[in-house]
Amino acid sequence: MSLRNRLLASYLLLIAVTLGVITLALLLLLDAQPAPPEATYQRLYVLAQSLLPRGQQGQESLLAEFRQGDFSSLSDFAANNGVRVLVANLQDNRVVFDSGATYAQGERANISVDLYAPPLGGMARGANAILPRAEVVFGDLSDPGGAEWLFAGYAISRQEIGTAFLVADLRPTASLQQTLREFGSSLLRPLLQSALVGFVIALGLAALISRSIVRPLQQLAEGMKTVRASADMKVPVSGPPEVRAVAEGFNRMSAEVTVAQQAQRDFLANVSHDLKTPLTSIQGFSQAIMDGAAKDPKHAASIIHDEAARLNRMVVELTDLARIQAGRLSMRTVPLDISQIVSAVIQRLTVVAQQKGVTLHVETPAMPPINGDGDRLAQVLNNLIGNAIKYTPAGGHVEVSTRVNLAVNGVEVVVRDTGVGIPPQDLPRIFERFYQVDKVRGPERGTGLGLAITREIVEAHGGRISVSSEGEGRGATFTIWLPSPQMTTLVRRRGV
Ligand code: ATP
Ligand code: MG
Repeated sequence: MSLRNRLLASYLLLIAVTLGVITLALLLLLDAQPAPPEATYQRLYVLAQSLLPRGQQGQESLLAEFRQGDFSSLSDFAANNGVRVLVANLQDNRVVFDSGATYAQGERANISVDLYAPPLGGMARGANAILPRAEVVFGDLSDPGGAEWLFAGYAISRQEIGTAFLVADLRPTASLQQTLREFGSSLLRPLLQSALVGFVIALGLAALISRSIVRPLQQLAEGMKTVRASADMKVPVSGPPEVRAVAEGFNRMSAEVTVAQQAQRDFLANVSHDLKTPLTSIQGFSQAIMDGAAKDPKHAASIIHDEAARLNRMVVELTDLARIQAGRLSMRTVPLDISQIVSAVIQRLTVVAQQKGVTLHVETPAMPPINGDGDRLAQVLNNLIGNAIKYTPAGGHVEVSTRVNLAVNGVEVVVRDTGVGIPPQDLPRIFERFYQVDKVRGPERGTGLGLAITREIVEAHGGRISVSSEGEGRGATFTIWLPSPQMTTLVRRRGV
């Protein structure tokens, strides 16, 4: 199911549930209401008519029984008909007889006559054939226990036996069926109408809202589809915050992918160019030797040898990179003096510096031993000092010094130059793979891998590397720090 349909369905479900709850609440409310009394009045009135015997003689003998306090015939009547029979004075509500035995003789009951009871079909309210001068009464009675009763009966004015004969029954509450019937006739229509209106409005709103959510997502999906087609794909950032966050994340990712792709392309171009140059010269010189065209075959062979060595170095660098990327950089660590390695590297690079017209200042006193891989550390220093010479114009200086740093329990190598420097905005990225400040810097241009490999090696030794520069044209300073286990134990001993 699509997101849009899901949203739509959830809105509709919400409305259906709301309407259902309202309907249920209404039904329960109606159910708790007392039912209208008419039907009960009618039934009780019919019973009341048969309460007293017809004919004056029968009535007189019954009244004689009552006068003697014998109400057994009323008790029988109540039991036979499943109702309650009361004899009470409606002036002061004092009970003379109660078949329900709730009230003792002379006790006051809470009786109220329903003056507004509607006239019953065919029932005379006035003088009555059974008891002349009697009046039909209806009403209700509430017991101390809280039970509600409805009654119908006759009120007469014979002081000596009380004034009214009442036939009572519990007041019924509305049945669910009845409620539903009423509900069906009066409430169902407006409820259905409002439901319909609600559904239509909700449908419109749902369509609008889901569009505002779904649209940016669709755009995002479209953008993702075409991201392979165009290099740097940006999707519009719109919609609710969550969707915007996804779009922004996508744009960021897209930008990063683009940068990485570009770097990879550059790298491949550089590598293939750098591989091609020595290969062409190897091919050319070996051809010349084979053809016997080489004037000095020994010289040609030495060029082939040098070029092959260069190729070898490049392959090694690429292999290193592959290892670093795979997270496997093998190291053979032995205790060594970093100053000796600096001196060895300087020896190799002095010629290069001289050719460029860059002066080298070196200060390498003997250092406490560190645990390290000599070849790897030489690679690090070669790159740092090589960079310093490479990025310093003729007439500049490069300073290399080693010293003990007690604060970090290790040794420090500082490579400082007076060269082109590094702009502040490039400083944080300088150790990234393939990162180069100025991509078009002539034939000396490297691969941008040197510093990435350097940092990897330094960190594999448990050390750190940092860079600072005063800005463009004002030189750069690279500092590496490597821990010395001997110094750590020394400091510990001193500390004791
Ligand atoms: P590679 O070392 O792989 O042959 P590279 O020297 O260009 O190539 P890195 O050594 O990683 O690559 O250096 C990255 C970038 O940092 C360089 O291209 C250069 O722009 C800048 N950089 C490095 N060292 C210095 C320095 N001492 N002064 C000024 N810029 C520097
Ligand atoms: Mg370099």
